[in-house]
Amino acid sequence: MIGRAVMAADVGLRLRAVTENIKMATSRRSAALPDVTPRLVAVGKTKPAALMVEAYRHGQRHFGENYVQELVEKASDSQILSVCPDIKWHFIGHLQKNNVNKLIGVPNLFMIETIDSSKLADKVNQSWQKKQAAPRLKVMVQVNTSEEDSKHGLSVEETVETVRHILSSCPCLEFVGLMTIGRYGYDLSQGPNPDFQVLVTRRKELCDQLNLPLETVELSMGMSTDYEHAIEVGATNVRVGSTIFGERTYPNKMGMDETSKEAGEPAEIAGRVTAKAP
Ligand SMILES: *Cc1c(COP(=O)(O)O)cnc(C)c1O
Repeated sequence: MIGRAVMAADVGLRLRAVTENIKMATSRRSAALPDVTPRLVAVGKTKPAALMVEAYRHGQRHFGENYVQELVEKASDSQILSVCPDIKWHFIGHLQKNNVNKLIGVPNLFMIETIDSSKLADKVNQSWQKKQAAPRLKVMVQVNTSEEDSKHGLSVEETVETVRHILSSCPCLEFVGLMTIGRYGYDLSQGPNPDFQVLVTRRKELCDQLNLPLETVELSMGMSTDYEHAIEVGATNVRVGSTIFGERTYPNKMGMDETSKEAGEPAEIAGRVTAKAP
């Protein structure tokens, strides 16, 4: 079916299916992995706030957006504010320094998953300090696990340095884990996703070098096509969009490119839309 829109009534069913799959994937996880209940972040980018409200009504609390402007609008939507007081927003897109203050102003901002430099961490730290809100804001550091130039995120050495910087010099930030997007379209019949393996390895190195307990460093990896696999290999945070809210449609290809450029949506994710279109 072309461009079938997910109606509010479908969201509950789709959400329940994903939640069930997450439970089963968790039970298949190796006993060697930290015993952490994975968190589902429902990614609503390009979808109307009404669908998020519907998911909230079905018990979903964590939501992700990757455009600052779209998050600002959704988080201050009157329905969201009145019906979803306990909503927890995750920012999962590329963050530019000039957008930090705007992002920090978002009501119910819970976590920024995409810190990719010490300078950005400093800026977020300062901005959060000024807001004088909760004591600390949760942050993850984004790792470029595929080492492709087109991707945002840090290399091996930079990851350790950035985390060390956050721990030592950003008192208003709480470092909670590592995040990756990974390459698009990896074929799981080829074996475990190498991006996920790199993130797992990176966490081990980080914990060894900075003396952190493994179970205190989360892994954010896995999207609609591979969240179950991601959980099996150690994800504690999966970001699922289209499986819950339906395929994303953009007015036209040009519009999509513009959007992805301006808003900083990683090209590989904009690419997913094209790749999955019927
Ligand atoms: C859009 C997006 C997702 C969700 O992608 P789906 O394939 O729709 O599940 C996950 N992570 C990031 C960073 C995204 O931008």
